[in-house]
Amino acid sequence: MNTPCHLVFANIYYKSIKDRLGLKNEIENNSKKRYSPIVEFQLKFQAMNKDSASSNSLEDGKVWKSVDTHCHLSLCKHMPVAEHVQKIREAGISFVLDPGLDPSDIAQRAEQLAGFKEVLLGGAVAPHYIQESSREDLQAKLELLEDYAAQKKIHAIAEIGLDITENSPPLALQEWLLKEQLHIAERHGLPAALHLRTRQPSHENKEARLSPNAYVLAAKMLAKLALSVPVISHCFSGTKEDADALLQAGAYLSFSGMVTFTKNKALQAIAASMPLEKMLLETDAPFLAPQPVRGKPNSSPFILHTLSFIQKLRPEDDVLISQQLYKNSCLALKIMA
Ligand SMILES: [Zn+2]
Repeated sequence: MNTPCHLVFANIYYKSIKDRLGLKNEIENNSKKRYSPIVEFQLKFQAMNKDSASSNSLEDGKVWKSVDTHCHLSLCKHMPVAEHVQKIREAGISFVLDPGLDPSDIAQRAEQLAGFKEVLLGGAVAPHYIQESSREDLQAKLELLEDYAAQKKIHAIAEIGLDITENSPPLALQEWLLKEQLHIAERHGLPAALHLRTRQPSHENKEARLSPNAYVLAAKMLAKLALSVPVISHCFSGTKEDADALLQAGAYLSFSGMVTFTKNKALQAIAASMPLEKMLLETDAPFLAPQPVRGKPNSSPFILHTLSFIQKLRPEDDVLISQQLYKNSCLALKIMA
């Protein structure tokens, strides 16, 4: 039987990581362990820390290292991937998680990103990309996703979640899909990143006030499942109550450039006072470029604007903030033990 082409691409990707880092033996020795993708993270992490590009300094000379926990490299049409990764290296960003939207995109992204050791590949069936898929179609996508997870071709189940807007798929279907993917994450010891969006209440549309709250629903699900893997609420933009519910359920809250927008005072208040050890930063590039580059196509190095903003917002020392955010990213993405 011929190997399906997506697996050929995935094998090319996997082989290149092993060959490049000289990890073939270590990974094969560990291949029977349940958490072997994490062993790969650790080995990759150690190998990368030998590179001088894994740290950099701000204008004031303070050393920091940074991670972009959510950047759609393949959606950044304004910049070729090789150029983007070069800029990531120059900016001293140690790792980037490239999340997926449909398991059928994994093979193509794996091939596109194969040469870039800074990039961790995520895979998922994203709730805002399932359109009118039937439960059978979704089941097939889940099986494909689990194949990639089982074969250690992906490093995170990202991005999954609940998207409750005007034309969203039925909520019950989304909740089933989310739960199934959280189980895949748990079975394979992989971190999960959640896309959570709720139709915003407005004075013009009173009905919108009755919309179920994606953050609260996800927090309840997480509390019930009590997963052992880290879960990230990506691009968090909910209320203080939403933040509390997710934190209570053990999730990390990841802030994008939205937190820098002048009018987002409530979000800034949450970022200023939440426990620092549960905070992450991301770009969500090519979307949501932070101030002062708002409106431009976003790219991963712009995360430095968000970092700088958070440093001004929080009471702690700048270096401590950088170090803690870096540590959080490693824990949330299972980059080190
Ligand atoms: Zn995304």
